Amino acid sequence: MTQLTSQHDAAGAVPENAAGGILHIDLDALASNWRTLRDNAGGAETAAVVKANAYGIGIEQAVPALGRAGCRTFFVAHLSEAIRARAVAPDATIYVLNGLFAGTGPTYAAHNLRPVLGSFEEIEEWAGFCRAENRKRPAAIHVDTGMNRLGLTVPQGLALRDRPEREDFETALLMSHFVSAEESDNPLNRQQIEAFEALRSSLPGIPASLPNSSGIFLNGKPPYDLVRPGYALYGGNPTPDRANPMKPVVGLEARIVQLRWVEADHTVGYNGRWLAVEKRRIATLSVGYADGYPRSSSARGRSGEDLLAGMTLVAGHPCPFAGNVSMDLITIDVTAVPENRIKRGDTVTLIGGDLTIDEVGRRAGTIGYEILTNLGARYARAYRGVQG
Ligand SMILES: *Cc1c(COP(=O)(O)O)cnc(C)c1O
Repeated sequence: MTQLTSQHDAAGAVPENAAGGILHIDLDALASNWRTLRDNAGGAETAAVVKANAYGIGIEQAVPALGRAGCRTFFVAHLSEAIRARAVAPDATIYVLNGLFAGTGPTYAAHNLRPVLGSFEEIEEWAGFCRAENRKRPAAIHVDTGMNRLGLTVPQGLALRDRPEREDFETALLMSHFVSAEESDNPLNRQQIEAFEALRSSLPGIPASLPNSSGIFLNGKPPYDLVRPGYALYGGNPTPDRANPMKPVVGLEARIVQLRWVEADHTVGYNGRWLAVEKRRIATLSVGYADGYPRSSSARGRSGEDLLAGMTLVAGHPCPFAGNVSMDLITIDVTAVPENRIKRGDTVTLIGGDLTIDEVGRRAGTIGYEILTNLGARYARAYRGVQG
Protein backbone atom coordinates (compact mmCIF):
# COMPACT_ATOMS: atom_id res chain seq x y z
CA MET A 1 0.00 0.00 0.00
CA THR A 2 1.22 3.46 -0.78
CA GLN A 3 1.58 5.83 2.11
CA LEU A 4 2.62 9.42 2.21
CA THR A 5 5.06 10.40 4.90
CA SER A 6 7.51 13.17 5.57
CA GLN A 7 10.86 12.38 7.03
CA HIS A 8 14.19 14.00 7.21
CA ASP A 9 17.56 12.40 7.25
CA ALA A 10 19.45 15.56 8.13
CA ALA A 11 19.93 16.36 11.78
CA GLY A 12 17.47 19.26 11.79
CA ALA A 13 14.16 18.02 10.43
CA VAL A 14 12.42 20.60 8.27
CA PRO A 15 8.63 20.63 8.46
CA GLU A 16 7.02 21.20 5.08
CA ASN A 17 5.25 24.43 6.02
CA ALA A 18 8.55 25.93 7.21
CA ALA A 19 10.68 24.82 4.27
CA GLY A 20 11.73 27.00 1.35
CA GLY A 21 11.78 23.96 -0.89
CA ILE A 22 9.94 20.67 -0.74
CA LEU A 23 11.55 17.65 -2.29
CA HIS A 24 9.19 14.85 -3.27
CA ILE A 25 10.78 11.43 -3.60
CA ASP A 26 8.76 8.55 -4.99
CA LEU A 27 10.18 5.26 -3.73
CA ASP A 28 7.58 3.25 -5.67
CA ALA A 29 8.87 4.84 -8.90
CA LEU A 30 12.41 3.96 -7.80
CA ALA A 31 11.41 0.31 -7.33
CA SER A 32 9.54 0.33 -10.63
CA ASN A 33 12.62 1.73 -12.41
CA TRP A 34 14.75 -1.04 -10.92
CA ARG A 35 12.29 -3.63 -12.29
CA THR A 36 12.34 -1.96 -15.73
CA LEU A 37 16.15 -2.12 -15.76
CA ARG A 38 16.09 -5.75 -14.60
CA ASP A 39 13.67 -6.58 -17.42
CA ASN A 40 16.11 -5.01 -19.91
CA ALA A 41 19.22 -6.65 -18.45
CA GLY A 42 19.01 -9.84 -20.49
CA GLY A 43 18.99 -12.07 -17.43
CA ALA A 44 22.00 -10.44 -15.76
CA GLU A 45 21.76 -9.66 -12.06
CA THR A 46 20.64 -6.04 -11.64
CA ALA A 47 22.57 -4.24 -8.92
CA ALA A 48 21.98 -0.63 -7.84
CA VAL A 49 24.51 2.17 -7.59
CA VAL A 50 23.64 4.19 -4.47
CA LYS A 51 26.74 6.37 -4.13
CA ALA A 52 26.44 10.03 -3.14
CA ASN A 53 23.49 9.43 -0.81
CA ALA A 54 21.71 7.44 -3.55
CA TYR A 55 22.22 10.29 -6.04
CA GLY A 56 20.84 12.72 -3.48
CA ILE A 57 17.55 10.99 -2.68
CA GLY A 58 18.64 9.37 0.59
CA ILE A 59 20.57 6.14 0.98
CA GLU A 60 18.58 5.06 4.08
CA GLN A 61 15.34 5.27 2.10
CA ALA A 62 16.55 4.08 -1.31
CA VAL A 63 18.42 0.95 -0.25
CA PRO A 64 15.49 -0.72 1.61
CA ALA A 65 13.08 0.22 -1.21
CA LEU A 66 15.40 -1.36 -3.79
CA GLY A 67 15.92 -4.37 -1.53
CA ARG A 68 12.17 -4.96 -1.38
CA ALA A 69 12.05 -4.79 -5.18
CA GLY A 70 14.60 -7.63 -5.28
CA CYS A 71 17.98 -5.89 -5.49
CA ARG A 72 20.73 -7.80 -3.67
CA THR A 73 23.92 -5.98 -4.69
CA PHE A 74 24.76 -2.32 -4.10
CA PHE A 75 27.66 -0.12 -5.16
CA VAL A 76 28.78 3.02 -3.34
CA ALA A 77 31.82 5.25 -3.88
CA HIS A 78 33.06 5.64 -0.30
CA LEU A 79 33.58 3.32 2.65
CA SER A 80 31.48 5.69 4.79
CA GLU A 81 28.58 5.29 2.35
CA ALA A 82 28.96 1.51 2.48
CA ILE A 83 28.66 1.57 6.27
CA ARG A 84 25.41 3.57 5.94
CA ALA A 85 24.09 1.11 3.35
CA ARG A 86 25.04 -1.85 5.53
CA ALA A 87 23.03 -0.41 8.44
CA VAL A 88 19.84 -0.70 6.38
CA ALA A 89 20.75 -3.80 4.31
CA PRO A 90 22.22 -6.41 6.65
CA ASP A 91 22.33 -9.19 4.07
CA ALA A 92 23.16 -7.36 0.84
CA THR A 93 26.42 -7.51 -1.09
CA ILE A 94 28.01 -4.06 -0.96
CA TYR A 95 30.95 -2.90 -3.09
CA VAL A 96 33.00 0.27 -2.61
CA LEU A 97 33.96 1.67 -6.01
CA ASN A 98 36.67 4.15 -5.03
CA GLY A 99 39.17 1.52 -4.06
CA LEU A 100 40.88 0.31 -0.93
CA PHE A 101 42.59 2.98 1.15
CA ALA A 102 45.65 1.84 3.10
CA GLY A 103 44.81 0.35 6.47
CA THR A 104 41.04 0.08 5.94
CA GLY A 105 40.90 -3.73 5.60
CA PRO A 106 39.59 -4.24 9.16
CA THR A 107 36.74 -1.76 8.54
CA TYR A 108 35.75 -3.67 5.40
CA ALA A 109 35.81 -6.92 7.35
CA ALA A 110 33.87 -5.53 10.32
CA HIS A 111 31.00 -4.50 8.05
CA ASN A 112 31.28 -7.36 5.58
CA LEU A 113 32.01 -5.01 2.66
CA ARG A 114 33.85 -5.64 -0.59
CA PRO A 115 36.44 -3.28 -2.05
CA VAL A 116 36.73 -2.68 -5.78
CA LEU A 117 40.47 -3.06 -6.35
CA GLY A 118 41.91 -0.90 -9.10
CA SER A 119 45.69 -1.20 -8.85
CA PHE A 120 48.32 -3.80 -8.03
CA GLU A 121 49.00 -1.88 -4.78
CA GLU A 122 45.39 -2.32 -3.73
CA ILE A 123 45.40 -5.96 -4.77
CA GLU A 124 48.53 -6.53 -2.70
CA GLU A 125 47.02 -4.74 0.28
CA TRP A 126 43.81 -6.82 0.17
CA ALA A 127 45.75 -10.04 -0.42
CA GLY A 128 48.02 -9.24 2.52
CA PHE A 129 45.06 -8.50 4.77
CA CYS A 130 43.39 -11.78 3.78
CA ARG A 131 46.62 -13.72 4.32
CA ALA A 132 47.05 -12.22 7.78
CA GLU A 133 43.48 -13.20 8.64
CA ASN A 134 43.84 -16.52 6.87
CA ARG A 135 40.54 -15.89 5.15
CA LYS A 136 39.84 -15.46 1.42
CA ARG A 137 37.59 -12.42 1.44
CA PRO A 138 35.75 -11.34 -1.72
CA ALA A 139 36.63 -8.24 -3.77
CA ALA A 140 36.01 -6.91 -7.25
CA ILE A 141 38.75 -6.01 -9.70
CA HIS A 142 38.24 -2.93 -11.86
CA VAL A 143 40.03 -2.71 -15.20
CA ASP A 144 40.05 0.64 -17.00
CA THR A 145 39.18 0.01 -20.65
CA GLY A 146 39.16 3.63 -21.83
CA MET A 147 38.32 6.17 -19.15
CA ASN A 148 41.92 6.56 -17.98
CA ARG A 149 40.67 7.37 -14.54
CA LEU A 150 40.43 4.42 -12.18
CA GLY A 151 41.35 0.77 -12.43
CA LEU A 152 44.13 -1.48 -13.70
CA THR A 153 45.24 -0.82 -17.26
CA VAL A 154 44.22 -3.48 -19.78
CA PRO A 155 47.78 -4.90 -19.98
CA GLN A 156 47.84 -5.07 -16.16
CA GLY A 157 44.45 -6.79 -16.22
CA LEU A 158 45.74 -9.34 -18.72
CA ALA A 159 48.78 -9.94 -16.49
CA LEU A 160 46.56 -10.69 -13.48
CA ARG A 161 46.34 -14.33 -14.41
CA ASP A 162 49.93 -14.87 -13.34
CA ARG A 163 49.87 -12.82 -10.13
CA PRO A 164 50.23 -15.12 -7.12
CA GLU A 165 48.34 -12.75 -4.74
CA ARG A 166 45.13 -13.61 -6.57
CA GLU A 167 45.18 -16.90 -4.66
CA ASP A 168 44.89 -15.09 -1.34
CA PHE A 169 41.43 -13.61 -1.89
CA GLU A 170 38.28 -14.31 -3.87
CA THR A 171 37.88 -12.31 -7.09
CA ALA A 172 34.09 -12.10 -6.95
CA LEU A 173 33.66 -9.69 -9.87
CA LEU A 174 35.63 -8.44 -12.85
CA MET A 175 34.39 -5.04 -13.89
CA SER A 176 34.97 -2.11 -16.17
CA HIS A 177 33.05 1.11 -16.85
CA PHE A 178 31.79 2.71 -20.07
CA VAL A 179 33.10 6.14 -21.13
CA SER A 180 30.15 7.20 -23.33
CA ALA A 181 27.42 4.59 -23.17
CA GLU A 182 24.74 7.30 -23.52
CA GLU A 183 26.10 7.93 -27.04
CA SER A 184 24.88 4.73 -28.61
CA ASP A 185 26.90 5.15 -31.82
CA ASN A 186 30.18 6.12 -30.16
CA PRO A 187 32.85 3.67 -31.42
CA LEU A 188 34.45 3.67 -27.96
CA ASN A 189 31.62 1.43 -26.72
CA ARG A 190 32.63 -1.34 -29.11
CA GLN A 191 36.35 -0.89 -28.33
CA GLN A 192 35.67 -1.16 -24.59
CA ILE A 193 33.54 -4.28 -25.07
CA GLU A 194 36.34 -5.87 -27.10
CA ALA A 195 38.97 -5.07 -24.47
CA PHE A 196 36.66 -6.40 -21.77
CA GLU A 197 36.07 -9.61 -23.75
CA ALA A 198 39.83 -10.20 -23.88
CA LEU A 199 40.04 -9.72 -20.11
CA ARG A 200 37.16 -12.09 -19.50
CA SER A 201 38.71 -14.84 -21.55
CA SER A 202 42.04 -14.43 -19.79
CA LEU A 203 40.29 -14.74 -16.38
CA PRO A 204 37.61 -17.37 -17.02
CA GLY A 205 35.01 -18.24 -14.41
CA ILE A 206 34.86 -14.81 -12.76
CA PRO A 207 31.47 -13.03 -12.87
CA ALA A 208 31.74 -9.97 -15.09
CA SER A 209 30.12 -6.54 -14.99
CA LEU A 210 30.24 -3.70 -17.51
CA PRO A 211 27.02 -1.72 -18.17
CA ASN A 212 25.92 1.36 -16.24
CA SER A 213 22.38 2.72 -16.86
CA SER A 214 22.96 3.66 -20.50
CA GLY A 215 25.05 0.55 -21.15
CA ILE A 216 21.99 -1.61 -20.42
CA PHE A 217 20.29 -0.05 -23.46
CA LEU A 218 23.23 -0.31 -25.88
CA ASN A 219 22.54 -2.37 -28.96
CA GLY A 220 24.49 -5.57 -29.17
CA LYS A 221 26.09 -5.20 -25.78
CA PRO A 222 26.63 -8.39 -23.89
CA PRO A 223 24.94 -7.90 -20.51
CA TYR A 224 27.43 -10.21 -18.75
CA ASP A 225 26.59 -11.36 -15.24
CA LEU A 226 25.75 -8.14 -13.43
CA VAL A 227 24.68 -4.63 -14.50
CA ARG A 228 25.30 -1.48 -12.42
CA PRO A 229 22.67 1.18 -13.08
CA GLY A 230 22.59 4.40 -11.08
CA TYR A 231 21.13 7.44 -12.85
CA ALA A 232 18.23 5.64 -14.54
CA LEU A 233 17.00 4.30 -11.20
CA TYR A 234 16.46 7.89 -10.10
CA GLY A 235 14.54 8.81 -13.25
CA GLY A 236 17.36 10.07 -15.49
CA ASN A 237 17.07 9.21 -19.17
CA PRO A 238 19.60 6.47 -20.03
CA THR A 239 18.76 6.87 -23.75
CA PRO A 240 19.08 10.64 -24.40
CA ASP A 241 18.32 10.29 -28.11
CA ARG A 242 15.04 8.48 -27.36
CA ALA A 243 12.05 8.86 -25.02
CA ASN A 244 12.85 8.25 -21.38
CA PRO A 245 11.80 4.71 -20.37
CA MET A 246 12.13 5.56 -16.67
CA LYS A 247 9.60 7.04 -14.24
CA PRO A 248 10.39 10.33 -12.49
CA VAL A 249 11.49 9.79 -8.90
CA VAL A 250 12.24 13.35 -7.79
CA GLY A 251 10.05 16.46 -7.74
CA LEU A 252 11.00 19.83 -6.31
CA GLU A 253 8.74 22.69 -5.31
CA ALA A 254 9.83 26.11 -4.10
CA ARG A 255 7.79 28.53 -2.03
CA ILE A 256 6.98 32.06 -3.18
CA VAL A 257 8.09 34.49 -0.47
CA GLN A 258 7.22 37.72 -2.31
CA LEU A 259 5.52 39.00 -5.44
CA ARG A 260 6.26 42.43 -6.90
CA TRP A 261 5.92 44.51 -10.03
CA VAL A 262 9.11 45.79 -11.59
CA GLU A 263 8.87 48.86 -13.79
CA ALA A 264 10.31 49.04 -17.30
CA ASP A 265 14.07 49.69 -17.48
CA HIS A 266 14.70 48.27 -14.01
CA THR A 267 16.88 45.24 -13.37
CA VAL A 268 16.38 42.22 -11.13
CA GLY A 269 18.94 40.56 -8.86
CA TYR A 270 22.66 40.86 -8.13
CA ASN A 271 24.69 42.84 -10.65
CA GLY A 272 21.57 43.85 -12.54
CA ARG A 273 21.99 41.22 -15.22
CA TRP A 274 18.31 40.95 -16.20
CA LEU A 275 16.46 43.95 -17.56
CA ALA A 276 12.69 44.38 -17.59
CA VAL A 277 12.10 46.05 -20.97
CA GLU A 278 8.50 46.59 -19.89
CA LYS A 279 6.66 46.29 -16.60
CA ARG A 280 7.01 42.69 -15.29
CA ARG A 281 5.72 40.76 -12.32
CA ILE A 282 8.45 39.00 -10.36
CA ALA A 283 8.06 36.20 -7.82
CA THR A 284 10.88 35.52 -5.37
CA LEU A 285 11.36 31.87 -4.41
CA SER A 286 12.89 30.60 -1.20
CA VAL A 287 15.50 28.37 -2.86
CA GLY A 288 18.99 29.30 -4.02
CA TYR A 289 22.40 27.94 -4.87
CA ALA A 290 22.97 27.06 -1.20
CA ASP A 291 20.23 24.47 -1.76
CA GLY A 292 22.24 22.98 -4.59
CA TYR A 293 20.19 24.65 -7.30
CA PRO A 294 22.93 25.68 -9.74
CA ARG A 295 23.82 29.36 -10.07
CA SER A 296 24.61 28.57 -13.69
CA SER A 297 20.82 28.57 -14.22
CA SER A 298 20.88 32.36 -13.83
CA ALA A 299 18.97 34.30 -16.51
CA ARG A 300 21.11 37.15 -17.89
CA GLY A 301 19.46 39.16 -20.62
CA ARG A 302 16.20 40.98 -21.20
CA SER A 303 12.63 40.15 -20.26
CA GLY A 304 10.78 38.16 -22.87
CA GLU A 305 13.99 36.74 -24.40
CA ASP A 306 14.28 32.99 -24.79
CA LEU A 307 17.37 32.41 -22.62
CA LEU A 308 19.00 29.09 -21.86
CA ALA A 309 18.39 29.46 -18.12
CA GLY A 310 16.29 28.11 -15.30
CA MET A 311 12.57 27.52 -15.78
CA THR A 312 9.64 26.92 -13.45
CA LEU A 313 6.01 25.88 -13.71
CA VAL A 314 3.65 28.24 -11.91
CA ALA A 315 0.00 27.21 -11.80
CA GLY A 316 0.60 25.36 -15.06
CA HIS A 317 2.41 28.24 -16.80
CA PRO A 318 6.10 28.01 -17.75
CA CYS A 319 7.81 30.96 -16.01
CA PRO A 320 11.49 31.67 -16.66
CA PHE A 321 14.17 32.73 -14.19
CA ALA A 322 14.92 36.46 -14.07
CA GLY A 323 18.44 37.50 -13.07
CA ASN A 324 21.17 35.81 -11.09
CA VAL A 325 20.37 32.94 -8.75
CA SER A 326 21.19 34.11 -5.20
CA MET A 327 22.41 32.00 -2.31
CA ASP A 328 18.93 31.57 -0.81
CA LEU A 329 16.57 33.08 -3.39
CA ILE A 330 15.59 32.78 -7.04
CA THR A 331 13.61 35.45 -8.92
CA ILE A 332 11.27 34.41 -11.74
CA ASP A 333 9.13 36.29 -14.24
CA VAL A 334 5.48 35.37 -13.56
CA THR A 335 3.89 38.03 -15.78
CA ALA A 336 2.28 35.26 -17.86
CA VAL A 337 0.29 33.97 -14.88
CA PRO A 338 -3.08 35.63 -14.23
CA GLU A 339 -2.57 37.91 -11.25
CA ASN A 340 -5.18 36.27 -9.04
CA ARG A 341 -3.82 32.75 -9.65
CA ILE A 342 -0.77 33.13 -7.41
CA LYS A 343 -0.06 34.51 -3.99
CA ARG A 344 2.63 34.58 -1.34
CA GLY A 345 3.17 31.12 0.16
CA ASP A 346 2.20 29.21 -2.97
CA THR A 347 4.66 26.71 -4.31
CA VAL A 348 6.01 26.52 -7.84
CA THR A 349 7.60 23.56 -9.60
CA LEU A 350 11.37 23.52 -10.13
CA ILE A 351 11.61 19.81 -10.97
CA GLY A 352 8.55 17.99 -12.28
CA GLY A 353 6.46 17.55 -15.41
CA ASP A 354 8.42 18.76 -18.44
CA LEU A 355 11.09 20.05 -16.09
CA THR A 356 12.81 16.68 -15.84
CA ILE A 357 16.17 16.36 -14.12
CA ASP A 358 17.74 16.08 -17.58
CA GLU A 359 16.07 19.32 -18.67
CA VAL A 360 16.99 21.16 -15.47
CA GLY A 361 20.58 20.00 -16.00
CA ARG A 362 20.58 21.16 -19.62
CA ARG A 363 19.25 24.58 -18.61
CA ALA A 364 22.07 24.86 -16.07
CA GLY A 365 24.74 23.84 -18.59
CA THR A 366 25.36 20.60 -16.73
CA ILE A 367 23.92 17.09 -16.50
CA GLY A 368 20.99 15.75 -14.50
CA TYR A 369 23.42 13.71 -12.39
CA GLU A 370 24.78 16.93 -10.89
CA ILE A 371 21.29 18.28 -10.25
CA LEU A 372 20.38 15.12 -8.31
CA THR A 373 23.56 14.79 -6.30
CA ASN A 374 23.40 18.43 -5.15
CA LEU A 375 19.80 18.26 -3.86
CA GLY A 376 20.00 20.36 -0.75
CA ALA A 377 19.86 19.55 2.93
CA ARG A 378 17.47 22.44 3.68
CA TYR A 379 14.59 20.98 1.72
CA ALA A 380 11.75 19.22 3.49
CA ARG A 381 11.86 15.70 2.13
CA ALA A 382 8.53 14.03 1.50
CA TYR A 383 8.90 10.34 0.68
CA ARG A 384 6.08 8.58 -1.11
CA GLY A 385 5.84 4.81 -1.25
CA VAL A 386 6.37 1.87 1.00
CA GLN A 387 9.18 2.35 3.46
CA GLY A 388 10.91 -0.09 5.74
C1 LIG B 1 28.49 5.77 -11.01
C2 LIG B 1 28.88 4.46 -11.59
C3 LIG B 1 27.91 3.63 -12.18
C4 LIG B 1 26.49 4.08 -12.41
O1 LIG B 1 26.47 4.89 -13.56
P1 LIG B 1 25.09 5.55 -14.10
O2 LIG B 1 25.52 6.24 -15.34
O3 LIG B 1 24.65 6.47 -13.03
O4 LIG B 1 24.15 4.44 -14.32
C5 LIG B 1 28.31 2.36 -12.58
N1 LIG B 1 29.58 1.96 -12.45
C6 LIG B 1 30.56 2.76 -11.94
C7 LIG B 1 31.94 2.26 -11.86
C8 LIG B 1 30.23 4.04 -11.51
O5 LIG B 1 31.19 4.82 -11.00
